[in-house]
Amino acid sequence: MPTQSVGRPMLLGGQWVYSDRTINILDPHDNSLVDIVPAATREQVETAIEDAQRASKVAAEMTSYDRMSILKKAAAYVEENLEEYAKLLSKESSKTIRESRKEVRRCIETLTLSAEEATRIEGETLSFDQSPSGQNRIGYFYRLPVGLIVAITPFNDPLNLVAHKVGPAIAGGNAIIVKPATVTPLSALKLAEAFEAAGLPPNILSVVTGHGSEIGDILVSHPAVRMVTFTGGLNAGEHIMKLAGLKKISMELGSNSPVIVLEDAILDDAVEASVSGAFWAAGQNCLGVQRIFVESSVYDEFLSRFIERTQQIRVGEKELEDTDMGPMITEKEACRIEEWILEALEMGAQIHTGGTRKGSYYAPTVLTNVPLDCQVAMEEVFGPVVSIFKVDSLDEAIELANGVSYGLQAGIFTSDIEHAFQAIRRLEVGGVMINDSSDYRLDAMPFGGVKGSGVGREGVKFALHEMTELKVVCFKLTHPLANKAKV
Ligand code: NAD
Repeated sequence: MPTQSVGRPMLLGGQWVYSDRTINILDPHDNSLVDIVPAATREQVETAIEDAQRASKVAAEMTSYDRMSILKKAAAYVEENLEEYAKLLSKESSKTIRESRKEVRRCIETLTLSAEEATRIEGETLSFDQSPSGQNRIGYFYRLPVGLIVAITPFNDPLNLVAHKVGPAIAGGNAIIVKPATVTPLSALKLAEAFEAAGLPPNILSVVTGHGSEIGDILVSHPAVRMVTFTGGLNAGEHIMKLAGLKKISMELGSNSPVIVLEDAILDDAVEASVSGAFWAAGQNCLGVQRIFVESSVYDEFLSRFIERTQQIRVGEKELEDTDMGPMITEKEACRIEEWILEALEMGAQIHTGGTRKGSYYAPTVLTNVPLDCQVAMEEVFGPVVSIFKVDSLDEAIELANGVSYGLQAGIFTSDIEHAFQAIRRLEVGGVMINDSSDYRLDAMPFGGVKGSGVGREGVKFALHEMTELKVVCFKLTHPLANKAKV
Protein backbone atom coordinates (compact mmCIF):
# COMPACT_ATOMS: atom_id res chain seq x y z
CA MET A 1 0.00 0.00 0.00
CA PRO A 2 1.38 3.46 -0.86
CA THR A 3 2.71 5.31 2.16
CA GLN A 4 3.45 8.83 0.96
CA SER A 5 2.37 10.78 4.07
CA VAL A 6 1.15 14.06 2.66
CA GLY A 7 -1.75 16.01 4.16
CA ARG A 8 -4.66 14.31 5.85
CA PRO A 9 -5.15 10.53 5.45
CA MET A 10 -8.42 8.73 4.65
CA LEU A 11 -9.95 5.96 6.79
CA LEU A 12 -9.79 2.59 5.04
CA GLY A 13 -10.01 -0.85 6.56
CA GLY A 14 -9.87 0.64 10.06
CA GLN A 15 -6.62 2.49 9.37
CA TRP A 16 -5.73 6.04 8.40
CA VAL A 17 -3.93 5.69 5.06
CA TYR A 18 -2.37 7.80 2.32
CA SER A 19 -2.14 7.29 -1.42
CA ASP A 20 0.44 7.99 -4.12
CA ARG A 21 -1.86 10.53 -5.70
CA THR A 22 -3.43 13.45 -3.86
CA ILE A 23 -6.13 16.10 -4.18
CA ASN A 24 -5.65 19.70 -3.05
CA ILE A 25 -8.56 21.04 -1.04
CA LEU A 26 -8.95 24.74 -1.74
CA ASP A 27 -10.80 27.51 0.08
CA PRO A 28 -13.36 28.80 -2.45
CA HIS A 29 -12.82 32.33 -1.12
CA ASP A 30 -9.35 32.73 -2.68
CA ASN A 31 -8.25 29.26 -3.81
CA SER A 32 -5.72 29.05 -0.95
CA LEU A 33 -4.69 25.55 0.09
CA VAL A 34 -6.67 24.23 3.08
CA ASP A 35 -5.37 20.66 3.12
CA ILE A 36 -4.36 17.71 0.94
CA VAL A 37 -6.20 14.38 0.86
CA PRO A 38 -5.44 11.07 -0.87
CA ALA A 39 -6.96 10.23 -4.24
CA ALA A 40 -7.75 6.56 -3.60
CA THR A 41 -6.63 4.03 -6.18
CA ARG A 42 -8.76 1.20 -7.58
CA GLU A 43 -6.81 -1.31 -5.43
CA GLN A 44 -7.40 0.73 -2.27
CA VAL A 45 -11.12 0.97 -2.97
CA GLU A 46 -11.39 -2.77 -3.66
CA THR A 47 -9.52 -3.60 -0.45
CA ALA A 48 -11.76 -1.21 1.47
CA ILE A 49 -14.85 -2.97 0.11
CA GLU A 50 -13.52 -6.41 1.10
CA ASP A 51 -12.61 -5.20 4.60
CA ALA A 52 -15.96 -3.49 5.03
CA GLN A 53 -17.81 -6.57 3.85
CA ARG A 54 -16.17 -8.57 6.65
CA ALA A 55 -16.95 -5.75 9.10
CA SER A 56 -20.63 -5.84 8.15
CA LYS A 57 -20.86 -9.18 10.01
CA VAL A 58 -19.46 -7.52 13.14
CA ALA A 59 -21.82 -4.56 12.75
CA ALA A 60 -24.82 -6.87 12.44
CA GLU A 61 -23.95 -8.57 15.71
CA MET A 62 -23.62 -5.38 17.75
CA THR A 63 -26.51 -5.01 20.17
CA SER A 64 -28.81 -2.05 19.68
CA TYR A 65 -27.62 -0.81 23.08
CA ASP A 66 -24.02 -0.72 21.78
CA ARG A 67 -25.03 1.04 18.56
CA MET A 68 -27.03 3.59 20.54
CA SER A 69 -24.13 4.21 22.97
CA ILE A 70 -21.61 4.72 20.15
CA LEU A 71 -23.90 7.11 18.28
CA LYS A 72 -24.51 9.10 21.46
CA LYS A 73 -20.78 9.30 22.17
CA ALA A 74 -20.08 10.43 18.60
CA ALA A 75 -22.73 13.16 18.96
CA ALA A 76 -21.14 14.25 22.25
CA TYR A 77 -17.68 14.38 20.62
CA VAL A 78 -18.95 16.65 17.83
CA GLU A 79 -20.67 18.84 20.43
CA GLU A 80 -17.50 19.16 22.53
CA ASN A 81 -15.58 20.23 19.40
CA LEU A 82 -18.37 22.22 17.76
CA GLU A 83 -16.30 25.31 16.97
CA GLU A 84 -13.46 23.25 15.46
CA TYR A 85 -15.94 21.39 13.24
CA ALA A 86 -17.61 24.66 12.20
CA LYS A 87 -14.30 26.33 11.28
CA LEU A 88 -13.17 23.38 9.18
CA LEU A 89 -16.54 23.11 7.44
CA SER A 90 -16.53 26.82 6.64
CA LYS A 91 -12.95 26.72 5.36
CA GLU A 92 -13.45 23.87 2.88
CA SER A 93 -16.95 24.86 1.72
CA SER A 94 -18.73 28.04 0.75
CA LYS A 95 -20.66 28.37 4.02
CA THR A 96 -20.21 31.31 6.37
CA ILE A 97 -19.17 30.59 9.95
CA ARG A 98 -22.75 31.11 11.17
CA GLU A 99 -24.15 28.79 8.49
CA SER A 100 -21.45 26.25 9.40
CA ARG A 101 -22.29 26.33 13.13
CA LYS A 102 -25.93 25.67 12.24
CA GLU A 103 -24.91 22.66 10.15
CA VAL A 104 -22.76 21.25 12.98
CA ARG A 105 -25.68 21.62 15.41
CA ARG A 106 -27.90 19.76 12.94
CA CYS A 107 -25.28 17.01 12.63
CA ILE A 108 -25.38 16.56 16.42
CA GLU A 109 -29.18 16.29 16.20
CA THR A 110 -28.96 13.76 13.34
CA LEU A 111 -26.56 11.56 15.32
CA THR A 112 -28.68 11.86 18.47
CA LEU A 113 -31.83 10.89 16.54
CA SER A 114 -29.90 7.94 15.07
CA ALA A 115 -28.95 6.82 18.59
CA GLU A 116 -32.61 6.95 19.61
CA GLU A 117 -33.80 5.11 16.51
CA ALA A 118 -31.23 2.35 17.09
CA THR A 119 -33.29 1.26 20.09
CA ARG A 120 -36.61 1.06 18.25
CA ILE A 121 -36.05 -1.00 15.12
CA GLU A 122 -39.34 -2.75 15.33
CA GLY A 123 -41.32 -5.34 13.41
CA GLU A 124 -44.99 -6.31 13.47
CA THR A 125 -47.04 -9.41 14.11
CA LEU A 126 -49.00 -10.60 11.11
CA SER A 127 -52.58 -11.91 10.90
CA PHE A 128 -51.92 -15.07 8.94
CA ASP A 129 -55.48 -16.25 9.61
CA GLN A 130 -56.87 -13.55 7.28
CA SER A 131 -56.80 -16.16 4.50
CA PRO A 132 -57.80 -19.84 4.49
CA SER A 133 -54.23 -20.55 3.34
CA GLY A 134 -52.91 -19.01 6.57
CA GLN A 135 -54.94 -21.07 8.98
CA ASN A 136 -53.01 -22.51 11.90
CA ARG A 137 -50.09 -20.18 11.29
CA ILE A 138 -48.75 -17.34 13.39
CA GLY A 139 -45.84 -15.04 12.62
CA TYR A 140 -44.25 -11.68 12.39
CA PHE A 141 -41.57 -9.70 10.56
CA TYR A 142 -38.55 -7.91 11.84
CA ARG A 143 -35.82 -5.70 10.39
CA LEU A 144 -32.28 -6.86 9.79
CA PRO A 145 -29.23 -4.97 8.48
CA VAL A 146 -28.76 -4.67 4.73
CA GLY A 147 -25.00 -5.38 5.03
CA LEU A 148 -22.50 -3.13 3.30
CA ILE A 149 -23.73 0.32 2.24
CA VAL A 150 -21.93 2.82 0.00
CA ALA A 151 -22.79 6.48 0.57
CA ILE A 152 -21.87 9.19 -1.92
CA THR A 153 -22.39 12.77 -0.76
CA PRO A 154 -22.35 16.32 -2.23
CA PHE A 155 -20.34 19.43 -1.39
CA ASN A 156 -23.06 21.72 -0.13
CA ASP A 157 -23.72 20.20 3.35
CA PRO A 158 -20.45 18.30 3.78
CA LEU A 159 -21.08 17.24 7.39
CA ASN A 160 -24.78 16.81 8.09
CA LEU A 161 -25.57 15.00 4.84
CA VAL A 162 -22.80 12.51 5.70
CA ALA A 163 -24.30 12.13 9.20
CA HIS A 164 -27.70 11.45 7.55
CA LYS A 165 -26.18 8.35 5.98
CA VAL A 166 -23.67 7.20 8.61
CA GLY A 167 -26.04 7.64 11.60
CA PRO A 168 -28.92 5.47 10.28
CA ALA A 169 -26.49 2.94 8.74
CA ILE A 170 -24.80 2.32 12.10
CA ALA A 171 -28.12 2.42 13.97
CA GLY A 172 -29.34 -0.32 11.62
CA GLY A 173 -26.29 -2.56 12.17
CA ASN A 174 -24.62 -2.02 8.79
CA ALA A 175 -21.08 -1.28 7.63
CA ILE A 176 -20.71 1.85 5.51
CA ILE A 177 -18.16 3.32 3.10
CA VAL A 178 -18.56 7.07 2.55
CA LYS A 179 -17.27 8.78 -0.60
CA PRO A 180 -17.57 12.47 0.26
CA ALA A 181 -17.62 15.20 -2.41
CA THR A 182 -14.20 15.54 -4.03
CA VAL A 183 -13.93 19.22 -3.12
CA THR A 184 -15.17 18.99 0.51
CA PRO A 185 -13.96 15.74 2.13
CA LEU A 186 -12.53 17.23 5.35
CA SER A 187 -15.75 17.41 7.37
CA ALA A 188 -16.50 13.74 6.59
CA LEU A 189 -12.98 12.72 7.68
CA LYS A 190 -13.46 14.69 10.89
CA LEU A 191 -16.79 12.98 11.49
CA ALA A 192 -14.97 9.65 11.25
CA GLU A 193 -12.71 10.88 14.08
CA ALA A 194 -15.82 11.24 16.25
CA PHE A 195 -16.80 7.60 15.61
CA GLU A 196 -13.28 6.42 16.32
CA ALA A 197 -13.31 8.33 19.62
CA ALA A 198 -16.74 6.83 20.37
CA GLY A 199 -15.32 3.29 20.07
CA LEU A 200 -16.90 2.13 16.80
CA PRO A 201 -15.18 -1.16 15.88
CA PRO A 202 -12.69 -0.73 13.01
CA ASN A 203 -13.86 -1.15 9.40
CA ILE A 204 -17.51 -0.50 10.12
CA LEU A 205 -17.02 3.06 8.86
CA SER A 206 -14.62 3.91 6.03
CA VAL A 207 -14.19 7.32 4.40
CA VAL A 208 -12.59 7.03 0.99
CA THR A 209 -11.50 10.25 -0.71
CA GLY A 210 -11.06 10.61 -4.45
CA HIS A 211 -12.70 11.65 -7.69
CA GLY A 212 -16.27 10.39 -8.08
CA SER A 213 -15.74 9.88 -11.79
CA GLU A 214 -12.69 7.60 -11.08
CA ILE A 215 -13.69 5.52 -8.05
CA GLY A 216 -17.49 5.94 -8.13
CA ASP A 217 -18.05 3.13 -10.61
CA ILE A 218 -16.04 0.62 -8.54
CA LEU A 219 -17.94 1.47 -5.35
CA VAL A 220 -21.35 1.44 -6.98
CA SER A 221 -21.06 -1.69 -9.10
CA HIS A 222 -19.26 -4.01 -6.63
CA PRO A 223 -21.46 -7.04 -5.86
CA ALA A 224 -20.52 -7.00 -2.15
CA VAL A 225 -22.24 -3.62 -1.79
CA ARG A 226 -25.90 -4.21 -0.94
CA MET A 227 -27.12 -0.61 -0.99
CA VAL A 228 -26.07 2.66 -2.59
CA THR A 229 -27.31 5.85 -0.96
CA PHE A 230 -26.54 8.88 -3.08
CA THR A 231 -27.09 12.59 -2.56
CA GLY A 232 -26.07 14.82 -5.43
CA GLY A 233 -26.99 15.98 -8.91
CA LEU A 234 -29.33 14.35 -11.43
CA ASN A 235 -26.61 13.39 -13.95
CA ALA A 236 -24.43 11.49 -11.47
CA GLY A 237 -27.59 10.00 -9.92
CA GLU A 238 -28.84 8.59 -13.22
CA HIS A 239 -25.38 7.22 -14.03
CA ILE A 240 -25.23 5.46 -10.66
CA MET A 241 -28.73 3.98 -10.99
CA LYS A 242 -27.83 2.44 -14.34
CA LEU A 243 -24.60 0.98 -13.00
CA ALA A 244 -25.64 -0.27 -9.57
CA GLY A 245 -27.57 -3.32 -10.73
CA LEU A 246 -29.56 -5.36 -8.24
CA LYS A 247 -29.07 -3.34 -5.03
CA LYS A 248 -31.12 -1.15 -2.76
CA ILE A 249 -30.95 2.43 -3.99
CA SER A 250 -31.68 5.75 -2.36
CA MET A 251 -31.42 8.88 -4.52
CA GLU A 252 -31.60 12.36 -3.00
CA LEU A 253 -31.27 14.68 -5.97
CA GLY A 254 -31.70 18.34 -6.78
CA SER A 255 -34.59 20.68 -7.50
CA ASN A 256 -35.63 24.19 -8.54
CA SER A 257 -38.11 24.66 -5.75
CA PRO A 258 -41.23 26.80 -6.09
CA VAL A 259 -42.85 29.12 -3.55
CA ILE A 260 -46.38 30.46 -4.05
CA VAL A 261 -47.42 33.78 -2.48
CA LEU A 262 -51.18 34.47 -2.55
CA GLU A 263 -52.89 37.80 -1.93
CA ASP A 264 -54.05 36.61 1.52
CA ALA A 265 -50.46 35.90 2.65
CA ILE A 266 -48.65 37.74 5.45
CA LEU A 267 -46.21 39.48 3.11
CA ASP A 268 -43.54 40.24 5.72
CA ASP A 269 -43.24 36.52 6.50
CA ALA A 270 -43.28 35.58 2.81
CA VAL A 271 -40.50 38.04 1.96
CA GLU A 272 -38.29 37.16 4.92
CA ALA A 273 -38.55 33.38 4.50
CA SER A 274 -38.18 33.48 0.71
CA VAL A 275 -35.09 35.72 0.77
CA SER A 276 -33.49 33.45 3.36
CA GLY A 277 -34.48 30.34 1.37
CA ALA A 278 -33.14 31.74 -1.90
CA PHE A 279 -29.74 32.89 -0.67
CA TRP A 280 -28.83 30.49 2.17
CA ALA A 281 -25.41 28.99 1.40
CA ALA A 282 -25.26 31.24 -1.69
CA GLY A 283 -28.25 29.36 -3.10
CA GLN A 284 -26.31 26.06 -3.13
CA ASN A 285 -29.05 24.21 -1.36
CA CYS A 286 -31.24 21.42 -2.72
CA LEU A 287 -34.31 23.02 -1.09
CA GLY A 288 -33.34 26.55 -2.10
CA VAL A 289 -36.11 28.86 -3.32
CA GLN A 290 -35.61 29.30 -7.07
CA ARG A 291 -39.02 30.21 -8.50
CA ILE A 292 -41.57 32.44 -6.74
CA PHE A 293 -45.14 32.74 -8.07
CA VAL A 294 -46.90 35.82 -6.69
CA GLU A 295 -50.60 36.66 -7.15
CA SER A 296 -50.93 39.80 -9.28
CA SER A 297 -52.67 42.00 -6.65
CA VAL A 298 -49.64 41.79 -4.29
CA TYR A 299 -46.94 41.29 -6.92
CA ASP A 300 -45.56 44.87 -7.04
CA GLU A 301 -45.39 45.20 -3.28
CA PHE A 302 -43.82 41.76 -2.82
CA LEU A 303 -41.25 42.44 -5.53
CA SER A 304 -40.12 45.80 -4.16
CA ARG A 305 -39.86 44.45 -0.59
CA PHE A 306 -38.03 41.35 -1.84
CA ILE A 307 -35.46 43.45 -3.74
CA GLU A 308 -34.97 45.78 -0.76
CA ARG A 309 -34.37 42.84 1.61
CA THR A 310 -32.04 41.12 -0.90
CA GLN A 311 -29.90 44.24 -1.12
CA GLN A 312 -29.34 44.08 2.65
CA ILE A 313 -27.54 40.71 2.38
CA ARG A 314 -23.91 41.16 3.38
CA VAL A 315 -21.73 39.17 1.00
CA GLY A 316 -18.15 38.68 2.13
CA GLU A 317 -15.53 36.64 3.91
CA LYS A 318 -16.91 33.49 5.46
CA GLU A 319 -15.17 33.72 8.82
CA LEU A 320 -16.61 37.16 9.68
CA GLU A 321 -19.54 36.96 12.10
CA ASP A 322 -21.62 39.53 10.23
CA THR A 323 -21.26 37.96 6.76
CA ASP A 324 -24.58 36.59 5.51
CA MET A 325 -23.45 34.97 2.25
CA GLY A 326 -20.15 33.57 1.05
CA PRO A 327 -18.79 32.52 -2.35
CA MET A 328 -19.90 29.77 -4.70
CA ILE A 329 -18.00 26.50 -4.30
CA THR A 330 -15.69 27.28 -7.27
CA GLU A 331 -15.14 30.13 -9.71
CA LYS A 332 -16.21 27.72 -12.45
CA GLU A 333 -19.64 27.42 -10.84
CA ALA A 334 -19.91 31.22 -10.53
CA CYS A 335 -19.07 31.48 -14.26
CA ARG A 336 -21.80 28.95 -15.06
CA ILE A 337 -24.33 31.14 -13.19
CA GLU A 338 -23.09 34.14 -15.15
CA GLU A 339 -23.72 32.30 -18.44
CA TRP A 340 -27.19 31.13 -17.44
CA ILE A 341 -28.20 34.68 -16.45
CA LEU A 342 -26.84 36.07 -19.68
CA GLU A 343 -28.97 33.55 -21.56
CA ALA A 344 -32.09 34.57 -19.59
CA LEU A 345 -31.42 38.27 -20.24
CA GLU A 346 -30.91 37.65 -23.95
CA MET A 347 -34.25 35.82 -24.00
CA GLY A 348 -36.03 38.81 -22.41
CA ALA A 349 -35.63 38.52 -18.63
CA GLN A 350 -35.19 41.64 -16.51
CA ILE A 351 -32.63 41.96 -13.71
CA HIS A 352 -33.50 44.01 -10.58
CA THR A 353 -30.46 43.54 -8.38
CA GLY A 354 -27.26 41.51 -8.51
CA GLY A 355 -25.97 40.07 -11.77
CA THR A 356 -22.31 40.68 -10.95
CA ARG A 357 -19.44 38.26 -10.35
CA LYS A 358 -16.08 38.69 -8.66
CA GLY A 359 -14.02 35.50 -8.72
CA SER A 360 -16.14 32.80 -7.07
CA TYR A 361 -18.55 35.36 -5.57
CA TYR A 362 -21.85 35.95 -7.35
CA ALA A 363 -24.12 38.74 -6.04
CA PRO A 364 -27.65 37.81 -4.86
CA THR A 365 -29.73 38.25 -7.99
CA VAL A 366 -33.44 38.85 -8.61
CA LEU A 367 -34.98 38.30 -12.06
CA THR A 368 -38.46 38.86 -13.49
CA ASN A 369 -40.06 38.28 -16.92
CA VAL A 370 -38.04 35.07 -17.13
CA PRO A 371 -39.02 32.96 -20.17
CA LEU A 372 -40.11 29.50 -19.07
CA ASP A 373 -37.79 27.77 -21.52
CA CYS A 374 -34.49 29.25 -20.35
CA GLN A 375 -32.13 27.38 -18.03
CA VAL A 376 -32.74 29.50 -14.90
CA ALA A 377 -36.46 28.65 -15.15
CA MET A 378 -36.19 24.97 -16.11
CA GLU A 379 -33.01 23.58 -14.59
CA GLU A 380 -31.56 23.61 -11.08
CA VAL A 381 -29.63 26.91 -10.74
CA PHE A 382 -27.85 25.96 -7.48
CA GLY A 383 -26.69 29.54 -7.00
CA PRO A 384 -27.91 32.87 -5.57
CA VAL A 385 -30.51 33.55 -8.26
CA VAL A 386 -34.27 33.79 -7.85
CA SER A 387 -36.95 34.34 -10.52
CA ILE A 388 -40.22 36.01 -9.56
CA PHE A 389 -43.33 35.40 -11.70
CA LYS A 390 -46.69 37.22 -11.66
CA VAL A 391 -49.70 34.86 -11.67
CA ASP A 392 -53.46 35.45 -11.80
CA SER A 393 -54.58 32.52 -9.65
CA LEU A 394 -53.56 29.61 -7.48
CA ASP A 395 -54.37 27.29 -10.39
CA GLU A 396 -51.87 29.07 -12.62
CA ALA A 397 -49.23 29.03 -9.86
CA ILE A 398 -49.62 25.28 -9.31
CA GLU A 399 -49.48 24.56 -13.04
CA LEU A 400 -46.25 26.56 -13.43
CA ALA A 401 -44.76 25.12 -10.23
CA ASN A 402 -45.35 21.59 -11.57
CA GLY A 403 -44.12 22.37 -15.07
CA VAL A 404 -40.53 21.23 -14.45
CA SER A 405 -38.84 17.87 -14.19
CA TYR A 406 -38.03 18.23 -10.44
CA GLY A 407 -40.18 17.92 -7.32
CA LEU A 408 -38.43 18.06 -3.95
CA GLN A 409 -40.28 20.56 -1.75
CA ALA A 410 -42.54 23.60 -2.20
CA GLY A 411 -43.83 26.43 -0.03
CA ILE A 412 -47.09 28.37 -0.06
CA PHE A 413 -47.98 31.53 1.85
CA THR A 414 -51.73 31.91 2.41
CA SER A 415 -54.25 32.49 5.22
CA ASP A 416 -56.90 30.38 3.50
CA ILE A 417 -56.97 26.74 4.50
CA GLU A 418 -58.77 25.77 1.28
CA HIS A 419 -55.89 27.22 -0.74
CA ALA A 420 -53.38 25.40 1.44
CA PHE A 421 -55.15 22.07 0.88
CA GLN A 422 -55.36 22.66 -2.87
CA ALA A 423 -51.60 23.14 -2.91
CA ILE A 424 -50.93 20.13 -0.68
CA ARG A 425 -52.98 17.89 -2.96
CA ARG A 426 -51.83 19.16 -6.33
CA LEU A 427 -48.16 20.14 -6.02
CA GLU A 428 -45.93 17.37 -7.39
CA VAL A 429 -43.29 17.36 -4.63
CA GLY A 430 -42.10 15.32 -1.65
CA GLY A 431 -43.10 18.00 0.89
CA VAL A 432 -45.28 21.13 1.08
CA MET A 433 -44.51 23.83 3.65
CA ILE A 434 -47.50 26.02 4.54
CA ASN A 435 -46.56 29.60 5.42
CA ASP A 436 -42.90 28.87 4.97
CA SER A 437 -40.56 28.60 2.01
CA SER A 438 -39.48 25.33 0.43
CA ASP A 439 -36.29 25.64 2.47
CA TYR A 440 -37.48 24.01 5.70
CA ARG A 441 -36.21 20.67 6.92
CA LEU A 442 -36.41 18.90 10.25
CA ASP A 443 -33.82 16.13 10.40
CA ALA A 444 -36.45 13.72 11.75
CA MET A 445 -39.04 14.26 9.01
CA PRO A 446 -39.30 12.14 5.85
CA PHE A 447 -37.30 13.95 3.22
CA GLY A 448 -36.97 13.28 -0.48
CA GLY A 449 -38.46 14.05 -3.84
CA VAL A 450 -40.54 12.87 -6.76
CA LYS A 451 -39.78 13.03 -10.51
CA GLY A 452 -36.15 14.08 -11.12
CA SER A 453 -35.63 14.87 -7.42
CA GLY A 454 -35.09 11.29 -6.39
CA VAL A 455 -36.15 7.90 -5.13
CA GLY A 456 -36.67 6.94 -1.48
CA ARG A 457 -36.71 9.02 1.69
CA GLU A 458 -34.14 10.17 4.22
CA GLY A 459 -34.79 11.67 7.66
CA VAL A 460 -33.29 9.41 10.29
CA LYS A 461 -36.12 6.92 10.90
CA PHE A 462 -36.97 6.74 7.19
CA ALA A 463 -33.36 6.28 6.09
CA LEU A 464 -33.00 3.58 8.73
CA HIS A 465 -36.01 1.74 7.29
CA GLU A 466 -34.43 1.91 3.83
CA MET A 467 -31.21 0.55 5.35
CA THR A 468 -32.84 -2.59 6.74
CA GLU A 469 -34.33 -5.69 5.14
CA LEU A 470 -37.55 -7.21 6.36
CA LYS A 471 -37.41 -10.86 7.39
CA VAL A 472 -40.68 -12.64 7.84
CA VAL A 473 -41.15 -15.54 10.27
CA CYS A 474 -44.07 -17.94 10.08
CA PHE A 475 -44.82 -20.79 12.53
CA LYS A 476 -46.99 -23.58 11.24
CA LEU A 477 -48.70 -25.04 14.25
CA THR A 478 -48.68 -28.77 14.52
CA HIS A 479 -51.47 -28.62 17.12
CA PRO A 480 -53.96 -26.25 15.46
CA LEU A 481 -55.42 -23.44 17.60
CA ALA A 482 -58.56 -23.00 15.54
CA ASN A 483 -61.95 -24.59 16.20
CA LYS A 484 -61.04 -25.70 19.75
CA ALA A 485 -63.32 -23.33 21.65
CA LYS A 486 -66.64 -24.81 22.80
CA VAL A 487 -69.69 -22.67 23.56
P1 NAD B 1 -22.54 15.92 -7.89
O1 NAD B 1 -23.62 15.07 -8.43
O2 NAD B 1 -21.63 16.58 -8.81
O3 NAD B 1 -21.62 15.08 -6.88
C1 NAD B 1 -22.18 14.39 -5.77
C2 NAD B 1 -21.24 13.27 -5.39
O4 NAD B 1 -21.22 12.32 -6.44
C3 NAD B 1 -19.80 13.69 -5.16
O5 NAD B 1 -19.26 12.95 -4.10
C4 NAD B 1 -19.14 13.31 -6.46
O6 NAD B 1 -17.75 13.08 -6.32
C5 NAD B 1 -19.87 12.03 -6.79
N1 NAD B 1 -19.85 11.63 -8.20
C6 NAD B 1 -19.78 12.40 -9.29
N2 NAD B 1 -19.80 11.64 -10.40
C7 NAD B 1 -19.91 10.36 -9.99
C8 NAD B 1 -19.98 9.10 -10.65
N3 NAD B 1 -19.95 9.01 -11.99
N4 NAD B 1 -20.09 7.99 -9.91
C9 NAD B 1 -20.14 8.06 -8.57
N5 NAD B 1 -20.05 9.22 -7.89
C10 NAD B 1 -19.95 10.35 -8.59
O7 NAD B 1 -23.28 16.98 -6.92
P2 NAD B 1 -22.63 18.21 -6.13
O8 NAD B 1 -22.32 19.29 -7.11
O9 NAD B 1 -21.59 17.75 -5.17
O10 NAD B 1 -23.89 18.63 -5.22
C11 NAD B 1 -24.92 19.40 -5.70
C12 NAD B 1 -26.13 18.57 -6.06
O11 NAD B 1 -26.56 17.79 -4.94
C13 NAD B 1 -27.31 19.45 -6.41
O12 NAD B 1 -27.98 18.90 -7.51
C14 NAD B 1 -28.17 19.38 -5.17
O13 NAD B 1 -29.52 19.69 -5.35
C15 NAD B 1 -27.96 17.97 -4.74
N6 NAD B 1 -28.33 17.80 -3.34
C16 NAD B 1 -29.46 17.08 -3.04
C17 NAD B 1 -29.85 16.96 -1.70
C18 NAD B 1 -31.06 16.18 -1.29
O14 NAD B 1 -31.12 15.77 -0.14
N7 NAD B 1 -32.03 15.96 -2.17
C19 NAD B 1 -29.09 17.56 -0.70
C20 NAD B 1 -27.97 18.29 -1.06
C21 NAD B 1 -27.59 18.39 -2.39
